[in-house]
Amino acid sequence: MTTTESNTVLAALDAATRGAVLEPGTAEYIVEATGFNVAVDHQPAAVVVAADAADIAAVVRIASAAGLKVAVKCTGHSADATGPDTILVCTRALRTLTVDHHARTATIGAGIVWQEVLDAAAPFGLGALAGSSTTVGAVGYTLGGGLSPIGRTYGFAADHVRSIEVVTADGVARRADEHQNADLFWALRGGGSAFGIVTEVVVDLFPLQTVLGGGIFYDITDARAVVEAWRLWVSTVPESVSTSVAILHLPPMPELPEPLRGRTVLHLRFTHVSNTEDGCALLAPMRALAQPIMDTVGEIPFAALASVHMDPTDPMPAMERGLLLNELTDEGLEIFMTAAEMPLAVAELRAMGGALSRGPAIDNAVGGRQAAFNLLGIGVLVPPIADMVPGVLDAFVDRFEPWSGGAFMNMAGAASGTPADRVRLGWDAATRDRLDAIRASVDPQRVFAAAARW
Ligand SMILES: Cc1cc2nc3c(=O)[nH]c(=O)nc-3n(C[C@H](O)[C@H](O)[C@H](O)COP(=O)(O)OP(=O)(O)OC[C@H]3O[C@@H](n4cnc5c(N)ncnc54)[C@H](O)[C@@H]3O)c2cc1C
Repeated sequence: MTTTESNTVLAALDAATRGAVLEPGTAEYIVEATGFNVAVDHQPAAVVVAADAADIAAVVRIASAAGLKVAVKCTGHSADATGPDTILVCTRALRTLTVDHHARTATIGAGIVWQEVLDAAAPFGLGALAGSSTTVGAVGYTLGGGLSPIGRTYGFAADHVRSIEVVTADGVARRADEHQNADLFWALRGGGSAFGIVTEVVVDLFPLQTVLGGGIFYDITDARAVVEAWRLWVSTVPESVSTSVAILHLPPMPELPEPLRGRTVLHLRFTHVSNTEDGCALLAPMRALAQPIMDTVGEIPFAALASVHMDPTDPMPAMERGLLLNELTDEGLEIFMTAAEMPLAVAELRAMGGALSRGPAIDNAVGGRQAAFNLLGIGVLVPPIADMVPGVLDAFVDRFEPWSGGAFMNMAGAASGTPADRVRLGWDAATRDRLDAIRASVDPQRVFAAAARW
């Protein structure tokens, strides 16, 4: 774009929107474009802090008329890099959040993060299918499927969406639900951001006053025995149990409990949702495996779900790669254990199965339901390891290819190149074809290519 064309677009955006339109070179532009993952490079033609759905519709119309793309960011937990061919819409000002405790639903604006939903639902004894980090945006997470630390009990977050308000590539705000725009409703739930910018969702809430949840940290010398036993144990536990294991290289930070600072550990995460089974009895075999460094498993308010994984809450330069695994063989387990010697912050295996393997009442586009585990590797791009992390991470994840079932969209990593192809492999051919057809019909110019993760 020439400077004149760019000025024309900025002026049109300014005239058509209530929210702030921020130009490159200003401090406000840098602050708004930068998200949780500070390693992601954002250099969009402009950032628009949308005040409402009408602002987003105007941005889409102006951008597509100018031949520009539109990307979207809430928290920047995994927004992909944006360049000067793109307008970046920030949704943080879309602050709708209401709980209908009779209907057991929450209406959630695109600027709301999960902790806010959990806090709003808690007084009614209700909870939602938030992820391991509750500082993640509820809408972006849900569109990508939404794998909760209680997912084996209830399924994916996308399985429990009642309706979606979305601005499509023609710059029109629409409702998608079981009856209206049903194809779009199917695609948005699990197909991600390729179909529009979502301004609001209505999701199911569940009676979740408390859960038995937390983590057990083992010394890395006990890790192999624990992971081996965990692999067998997960095939025996009921779907009221959700669980994962992670090899963590923890930094020597004062925010961490003293026994964990600067250590490499095996972190077993556990949640149990049931009024009838004894969760402690189910966990007992894992507790008996080795002397833990720390054991935080206990009855917790559901709004404290984030304490199960203890994900970082401060912005950081991170890179992640993920893969769905159809099985965890002895060889795969050996490869997983090599993460203990690698410059990776996290190597994680989440047990899938249970309700995650079943489709929802109203079919959606979530892929990978057949997977037995979700593998995730995360590296932190800080000196002196910054340069080697991308190669190490790719090589680590690539070694699991023989057992791959594609990749789960929210945890595949950056959208370009191999991870995007892996996301597509998570869908069967019929789902892939249907998603492609819907995308071609609702966004023929690929206005949302910069926001889509496949
Ligand atoms: C620490 C951490 C823990 C996580 N834990 C989990 C987990 O337990 N389970 C899980 O499933 N995922 C998890 N994730 C992944 C997370 O769900 C995705 O990164 C999600 O996309 C984040 O959404 P966001 O809006 O916060 O991030 P952003 O970076 O702001 O957005 C990411 C992408 O989401 C899409 N998006 C966001 N808002 C909209 C919108 N309004 N309309 C259309 N598209 C939109 C866009 O494609 C955008 O590029 C985790 C990520 C991190 C960093």
